[in-house]
Amino acid sequence: MKYISTRDSNAVPVSGAVAIARGLAPDGGLYVPQYRGQGAGGREQDFPAYFPADLTHKSYCELAEDIFALYLEDFSRAELAHVARAAYAGGAFPPAVAPCVQVGPFTVLELFHGPTCAFKDMALAALPHFLTLAAAKTEQAGEIVILVATSGDTGKAAQEGLANVAGCRLIVFYPAGGVSEIQERQMLSGGGHNTAAVAVRGNFDDCQRGVKAIFADVTMGRQLAQAGLSFSSANSINFGRLLPQIVYYYHAYAQMLAQGSVKAGQCIDIAVPTGNFGNILAAYYARGMGLPVRRLICASNENDVLVEAINAGHYNSRRPFHKTASPSMDILVSSNFERFLFEMYGRGADALATAFAQFAATGSLHIADEARRNWQGLLYGGSAAGNAAARTIAAVFAEHNYLLDPHTAVGWTVASNHYDQAEGIPLLLTATASPYKFSAAVLKALGVPCGDLNGEEQMQLLAEHTKTTIPAPLAALAHSNPRPRQKIGVADMGRTVLELLGL
Ligand SMILES: *Cc1c(COP(=O)(O)O)cnc(C)c1O
Repeated sequence: MKYISTRDSNAVPVSGAVAIARGLAPDGGLYVPQYRGQGAGGREQDFPAYFPADLTHKSYCELAEDIFALYLEDFSRAELAHVARAAYAGGAFPPAVAPCVQVGPFTVLELFHGPTCAFKDMALAALPHFLTLAAAKTEQAGEIVILVATSGDTGKAAQEGLANVAGCRLIVFYPAGGVSEIQERQMLSGGGHNTAAVAVRGNFDDCQRGVKAIFADVTMGRQLAQAGLSFSSANSINFGRLLPQIVYYYHAYAQMLAQGSVKAGQCIDIAVPTGNFGNILAAYYARGMGLPVRRLICASNENDVLVEAINAGHYNSRRPFHKTASPSMDILVSSNFERFLFEMYGRGADALATAFAQFAATGSLHIADEARRNWQGLLYGGSAAGNAAARTIAAVFAEHNYLLDPHTAVGWTVASNHYDQAEGIPLLLTATASPYKFSAAVLKALGVPCGDLNGEEQMQLLAEHTKTTIPAPLAALAHSNPRPRQKIGVADMGRTVLELLGL
């Protein structure tokens, strides 16, 4: 299968290895699979069909290997089996990898059992292995320099995935004051000799824009090439991030079958607390491949740019930015939404290029009515503003003795608004972070004052109050020795990259 850009219908399609090694297409668009083929019953479909008869008997690694193979034809089966095992069976994840638990009316898919306790681990455990293989296949000489803009969770997950990986360097940019204390401590602790994390005076969108500007900077690109280096991205704009996320939706459906919460072939709804639209997009791809999914429910916090885009067709990033208790979703430009729009525009790259030129110039774009009609009945949007998510944390803990993190609580709140038990459609909610990563916000929601306790003390208090256990990777932070924080302006990001690379 080849990959094409969302914005250029004339460019020559590239292999999976090239798409992954580059991260972003040269025209600024995102790489998407060019598949068109036949699914069950000879129906035309836009994604490779997958629904193994022995789904419930497949291990996480087996599912990952199968799904990777459908998308990366230029990788050998042995290579893909290696990626899956190195990512998920090397001890960084528990044997269940991403367990499903029934909590009240919903099945909760826990995606936070990886090394950094957030769902970014699910993809970033695999991406470095894809990247090094892709670099070898594309005969990219020298080292890959991976730049990451993070709203908190990607940064640490990328550090974990890339620490001391030969041939890779990693520079993470995060918004100063825009991540939780525990997230910052994680990013400044550990990592490898090849990783760095830098705070930027600005919000996540500033970091993301800065990184995209560096990618587009021809002079810098030349400077790097002369030094035998080339840029890539570990952000969810990289197809290698999206691909591993498809796997856990199959794994979840298999668990729901085994647990009896869904009948064979029955459709489910999926609710996803959303920021950059990567997680929910993977659910859309899984549905395209044949996973029985009825609705996708996109949940936003007060930064509800996607909700307006979904419900009113107006995608507008020029709006007040809110700092919320769910910082990993404090995003106004949702990069992966472009991949979804590409499908909704009938893969019309030209129309999309025009729309995104407008978006670049004005910060907003109008979505064509025909495109909007294509997601009727499929994609729903809702937001949880004010105290709604905090109230959900308290209520779910009181009723079900289950502790939600603030992001998952946004998802729960919106899912509840869209859920009608009488319809009998099971609902799968993705849980994207451990509540301990956001201890201060969770304690506040539970009505427990935590004054000026530091991150570790907050975690201890949360453990005592809820009689739950601090996840091992977060407990280990107590013994970490964080590096001093480096803080720069948005305009200095390019220079900082060159300095860190010694250029
Ligand atoms: C990144 C993140 C999200 C948003 O996921 P997207 O794929 O960017 O939509 C939600 N919750 C947490 C905890 C995250 O780290």
